Amino acid sequence: MKKPSATQACPCGSGRVLSACCGPLLEGRSVAPTAEALMRSRYAAHALDREAYVLDTWHASTRPPEIESQAAPRPRWIGLTILGHQHLDDSHAVVEFVARYRLGGRAHRLHETSRFVLEGQRWYYVDGDLHE
Ligand SMILES: [Zn+2]
Repeated sequence: MKKPSATQACPCGSGRVLSACCGPLLEGRSVAPTAEALMRSRYAAHALDREAYVLDTWHASTRPPEIESQAAPRPRWIGLTILGHQHLDDSHAVVEFVARYRLGGRAHRLHETSRFVLEGQRWYYVDGDLHE
């Protein structure tokens, strides 16, 4: 696990430093207030190799037993853009985003609309639909 410094820019692209953005969420000191905040923190967790956080914030109904990106080469996450955030009702929301990463020397983009559910005051990622 990398030990990011408190003053580094948050990988989620908010423009804030990690310690004032996703850092407290990744460290379990606070919980995401919105589905978008959870989405951002999960992206930051990918970028910082915090796989336990990715699993902890994955709804039990769809959570894989482990993250399958253990095999080399690992993607290097280079940017997140939130395109939309919509509440469907009090406990369901969707977030559309583009995540950019480099793999094998090439840049790729992942465009997904993810579904989130609020359970016991915590947001969880459920699943998502990929866009071409
Ligand atoms: Zn952040």
